[in-house]
Amino acid sequence: MIAITTFAGKRVAVFGMARSGLAAAKALVAGGAEVACWDDAAKGRAAAEAAGLPLVDLNTANLSQFSALVLSPGVPLTNPKPLPVIVVRARAANIPIIGDTWLFFRELGTLPEKSRPKVVGITGTNGKSTTTALTAHLLRHAGRRVAMGGNIGEAVLGLAPFAETDVYVLELSSYQIDLTWRPEDGVDPGVGCDVGILLNLSTDHIDRHGSFEHYAAVKERLVATARAALVGIDDPFSRAIAHRYLEHDGWCEAIHIADDPTRPASAVSRADVEPFKRANILHTIDAAHAEALTTAVLRGPHNVQNATAAVETCMMLRLDGSTLKEGLRTFPGLAHRMELLGLVGAIAYVNDSKATNADSTAKALNSFGSGLHWIAGGKAKDGGIESLAPFFGNVAHAYLIGEASEAFAATLAKHLALTIHPCGTVARAVGEAARVAGAGPATVLLSPACASFDQFKDFEDRGDQFRALVSALPGFVPFGGKRGAS
Ligand code: ADP
Repeated sequence: MIAITTFAGKRVAVFGMARSGLAAAKALVAGGAEVACWDDAAKGRAAAEAAGLPLVDLNTANLSQFSALVLSPGVPLTNPKPLPVIVVRARAANIPIIGDTWLFFRELGTLPEKSRPKVVGITGTNGKSTTTALTAHLLRHAGRRVAMGGNIGEAVLGLAPFAETDVYVLELSSYQIDLTWRPEDGVDPGVGCDVGILLNLSTDHIDRHGSFEHYAAVKERLVATARAALVGIDDPFSRAIAHRYLEHDGWCEAIHIADDPTRPASAVSRADVEPFKRANILHTIDAAHAEALTTAVLRGPHNVQNATAAVETCMMLRLDGSTLKEGLRTFPGLAHRMELLGLVGAIAYVNDSKATNADSTAKALNSFGSGLHWIAGGKAKDGGIESLAPFFGNVAHAYLIGEASEAFAATLAKHLALTIHPCGTVARAVGEAARVAGAGPATVLLSPACASFDQFKDFEDRGDQFRALVSALPGFVPFGGKRGAS
């Protein structure tokens, strides 16, 4: 745990008693603050009680007695309206609204600069978890003492103390960034990341941010406050951010995928990348670059982008090239993201249950060559799988499950080279795919392009059930030992 001394002797309100709220309350108490905790849900209040934290109904308490409100990133701060009572009342009481990540950076700032551990912050619409886990893995492999957390795994304040850590690798969501650096409200811990990574920006979470512009502006703060930045420049918003960073004389490196069939044609032109090339800060992912960074679990241009960001970060932190190569080779990957489960003879089974929309499934269909046995379906998203048509040539057999089966079958019926198998359940799909694939070689890929809620608790449940079914196939040999956590 990282003890937070910023509010020693003061009273702090902590709202939201899930992972990060509980860790923040404990860290504040360890640093000498008095906390008042609340959660509107009984489960959260029970967790606080079990941890010995005092409960006060913050929806009715006088908030001006507190020096700050530490808000869970799960609670809407700006949108949608009407805002939660706690936010409205904290604003009226004129107390700063901050997150556990603000506390982390503020505490870091109390150390003399030379003895501060390094911090890598990673954000973007897609690829955060993979890049975070890979960066942490590479640094650990090189012998650094690494603490990884934030939006993945452990809450930041539950991580090892500063004195025991060389590098913090933090996945940061837009909500966490908004609760850390919010200049319009005077919220600024005074310290940023040593390396800030922005992978990409596409429409997501707009309900919580009100507009795409605001979402992008929030993400920009991670790189704008960082000493050095790595920015994927293949979408116009991220590219504009990289431009602005350069104009402010910051150290920025740009990452560009030269040829990505899953990207909209209009997203990036040669002229768009030219200024970064001229400034000599461009990492272009071409065929040779992709070959050097692709591994059994890191496939496809998107994963090469993630790997490039992780490797360049390690270079900035002075890791040497040979350690990096070995580290890349031993990265086990993350569960449910093109996760190579293992083999039955020459048939490889891949769990991409995290692909809950067509964009994510496009990445997978683009990554395994042709002749795929593809298991898809569930609760369909708007637009279905029409946008995947350019990748249907890679599919030999489609096994359809869940509510979307009929609609998907209608879309696929136009593609005559492909055989459709209506299966209903994932259990039947696994059995049918194993039978049809025969002796192989082939790849059986679960990449549903759908939400899971029609048949499963969530995408993790779906992937876990798929893994269990595949593991039970006669002759199954799992891939490379233990997997990373989801
Ligand atoms: P996040 O933590 O941002 O959700 P993950 O690493 O869990 O990202 O990957 C989620 C999905 O996003 C993957 O299954 C893949 O489809 C897609 N993805 C991963 N990396 C990238 C990337 N660099 N660019 C675009 N899409 C990506």
